[in-house]
Amino acid sequence: MSETINYKSSSAAEQEITESELAEEIAIPWTEKKLGVALVGLGKYSTEQLAPALQQTHNCYLAGIVSGSENKIKEWKAQCNIADENIYNYKNFDAIKENDAIDILYIALPNALHAEYVIRGAQAGKHIICEKPMAVSVEECDRMIKACKDAGKMLSIGYRLHFEPHHRDMMKMGQAKIFGELSQISAKHGSNDTKGWRLDKTLAGGGPLMDLGIYCIQAARYVSGMEPVAVTVKEGKIVNDERFKNIEDALIWEMEFPNGLIAYCETSYNEEMNSLHADAAHGWFELSPAYEYEGINGKTATGFINLPNVNQQALQMDDFALCIMSHKPSKVSGEMGKCDMKIIAAIYEAMQTGNRIEV
Ligand code: NAD
Repeated sequence: MSETINYKSSSAAEQEITESELAEEIAIPWTEKKLGVALVGLGKYSTEQLAPALQQTHNCYLAGIVSGSENKIKEWKAQCNIADENIYNYKNFDAIKENDAIDILYIALPNALHAEYVIRGAQAGKHIICEKPMAVSVEECDRMIKACKDAGKMLSIGYRLHFEPHHRDMMKMGQAKIFGELSQISAKHGSNDTKGWRLDKTLAGGGPLMDLGIYCIQAARYVSGMEPVAVTVKEGKIVNDERFKNIEDALIWEMEFPNGLIAYCETSYNEEMNSLHADAAHGWFELSPAYEYEGINGKTATGFINLPNVNQQALQMDDFALCIMSHKPSKVSGEMGKCDMKIIAAIYEAMQTGNRIEV
């Protein structure tokens, strides 16, 4: 029988859970074999987060790269010890089909390129992790899911926070009603430091909602454990600023859940915001900052959430490799990504029409 330990994070009741349950919250079982991952797109996220995370993974490793830049290829080859035969560019990308050293493609390109590379990657016989947002339309999500299904390959989305202990605790407190029935959720994520393709609607698909607001949509879904039935936009701005020619600069919206619960959400490219708060019948629980790679802080009505920081991306990739090897579906699936795209499309429709839009 497993030993029980006192797990104080969901501090409402100082829940007793077994040690193995806690371990399951934050650890992914190690496999004997390691799958080869190729990073597609060597930008900031690949360089600063994914490559370092792949130094800490146990079930997969950095085997290859895909890049259009000769300079980056030289740098990465030297720094990460990548074999010549595992290096591709966007022209010879499809030849990756012949390469058995690459099992997983990790698509970390601008949003509008996700669909093309997921579909071509699946057709090349590779399992895929695609960064968020999954695509720039629901129709693209459908084609991506179908391509992976037709090829018999797995698809998951880079929703790293599903592997982060504070967020797992928020899910548990909300879904298990540790503080009673939820009365409202508030989620805010914004940045005032956005540049490059994220400001170009053709490549980004939209503004901060696509990039940062998606974390608020995700959080409202996983804290409540429900799917929204309708959305309303309170404020959406396309302002007279050179940076925001065809994308919103900020958005305030509400998501309505089947039992009447409302999630109040806010995103912006003009303001730093980073919080997640839930009120329930007998207390509250929150994270601030909420969506960072490390340093997430949690509090509840009865105390602090004391949980470790983890390498979110390493756990996310290890979990996907384990899913592939054990033929289990990923908990951050293409269907989950498509559901967020449906909600995003409804929010943009609400912004444009001023109406309450059913999801
Ligand atoms: P980035 O601009 O730093 O990198 C994008 C890469 O794509 C660059 O290497 C660029 O050269 C390459 N690229 C190829 N074709 C391009 C084209 N036509 N136009 C522009 N760039 C092109 O961006 P990033 O911050 O690394 O973001 C990449 C993806 O990762 C995005 O979808 C983003 O939403 C996602 N992301 C996720 C997280 C997370 O926490 N899950 C964090 C950051 C970024």
